[in-house]
Amino acid sequence: MLDGGYTTYRREANLIGGDWVGADGGGTIDVTNPVDGSVIGTVPKGGRAETARAIAAAHAAFPGFRDTALMERCALLWKLHDALMDNQATLAELLTVEMGKPLAEAKGEIAIGAQYVRWFAEEARRAKGEIVPAGVNGRRILVTKHAIGVVGMITPWNFPSSMLARKLAPALAAGCTVVAKPATATPYSGLAWGALCEEVGYPAGVVNVVTGSAREIAGAMMEAPEVRKITFTGSTEVGKELIRGSADTVKKVSMELGGNAPFIVFDDADLDAAVQGAMVSKFRNAGQTCVCANRIYVQSGIHDAFVAKLVDATKALKVGDGRDAGVEQGPMIDGDAVEKVEGFVADATAKGGTVVTGGKRHDLGGTFFEPTVVTGATQAMDFATDEIFGPLAPVFRFDTEAEAIAMANATVYGLACYAYTTNLGRAFRLNEGLQYGMIGINSGLITTVEAPFGGVKESGLGKEGGSQGLEDYLETKYVCIDGI
Ligand code: NAP
Repeated sequence: MLDGGYTTYRREANLIGGDWVGADGGGTIDVTNPVDGSVIGTVPKGGRAETARAIAAAHAAFPGFRDTALMERCALLWKLHDALMDNQATLAELLTVEMGKPLAEAKGEIAIGAQYVRWFAEEARRAKGEIVPAGVNGRRILVTKHAIGVVGMITPWNFPSSMLARKLAPALAAGCTVVAKPATATPYSGLAWGALCEEVGYPAGVVNVVTGSAREIAGAMMEAPEVRKITFTGSTEVGKELIRGSADTVKKVSMELGGNAPFIVFDDADLDAAVQGAMVSKFRNAGQTCVCANRIYVQSGIHDAFVAKLVDATKALKVGDGRDAGVEQGPMIDGDAVEKVEGFVADATAKGGTVVTGGKRHDLGGTFFEPTVVTGATQAMDFATDEIFGPLAPVFRFDTEAEAIAMANATVYGLACYAYTTNLGRAFRLNEGLQYGMIGINSGLITTVEAPFGGVKESGLGKEGGSQGLEDYLETKYVCIDGI
């Protein structure tokens, strides 16, 4: 167990226009450690008025920041990267204490956040326009890129640091200013970004962070014509509300929403690699990631051998406080999340599924849940269509490639999917046939800064990472120069 160094970047105030302030009425919200429910501090219960001031500050800061020399903006990002890595252990502990994931995963999250910052510092230098051949002589057609303006950011609790990194880094690289609202369960990692940005020298008002009522904060963002873009990571249900809410002021939207990832193992797969991939994809973050394997489809010929190894690996997972050495699965975020997984287990067993290991609350109590494998899963069970968001691995059996693709696509979601096969032709057919924004072939862990992360269908709009991740924070203008 570490010694509480996490308080270094724990800010119990909001950052608005360069000042650290409480809520107008003085209201606060307790922040708890999901390991035991103990209160680790409070944050302001902000609302419309505080958000309106943050938007005004971001709007006032925008022209100056947008016009900052490109290399100055890049230098700030480099400093931000270094500040993150210099404080990786402290920031990771803060993340683990408020969210529950194992410390090693939290350190990884801080590191990938830093990588996003560095990536977008590089991409900012390639935000090129173009000169397009005109149809008539005497005209010149220039296409240019411009920072979109004030960006409202709303992020979830499951990756409280890196989900903001993927928004903050491209926004700042492009020259946008920001009002961010972290999830109420995990506000400190978001506020820590505010503290780091202030520390490395971002001017007052460029980065603002407000905590409190989601409806009020989001409502103020929606109403404000100055907010030109909303970027959201969270559930599809809330994402739809935000798309509707953005209509009146015609904001650009980026939506990173829910997933229901199929993980397909073919007979020709490398069995050990497939089991290893399934473990990391399923049980990372206690199964609480949008790209977690939600449905594991295994071809008949390899099914029993795969299940045997998956069960052994699942039984070996060490569950506990994420700050304890060697822990691989922490608590779930709250009681509702546990009940949801219990509901999936009850539904599956009622419909003929078998719990091979786990299946109930863990002896550690609280919100700990046993790593679980259910076999005999069918398309009639709830997890075939709904996101589990917990440490439950349902295994389905299939016979043909066409059957696997059809079952994999039978969902409104289209975020990540995975397949294990050594057949190259099949890998190409899967890329063409699977309706997903991201496909891992022989890999269960595919998030990387160089690639465009994002979903299709009801999993979202827009991309984070890659060159596309910067594009989402830029407006395209065209100028026609005639008569010269
Ligand atoms: P959530 O309930 O949608 O919350 C996400 C954020 O939205 C939080 O900051 C929350 O604030 C806020 N929010 C809640 N209700 C709102 C409303 N009516 N209007 C505006 N904002 C509102 O999602 P979650 O439970 O935190 O996160 C899990 C979901 O996120 C899963 O579906 C997962 O798949 C998805 N996710 C997607 C990605 C991706 O990249 N596609 C990545 C990670 C997670 P409060 O905390 O104050 O309620």
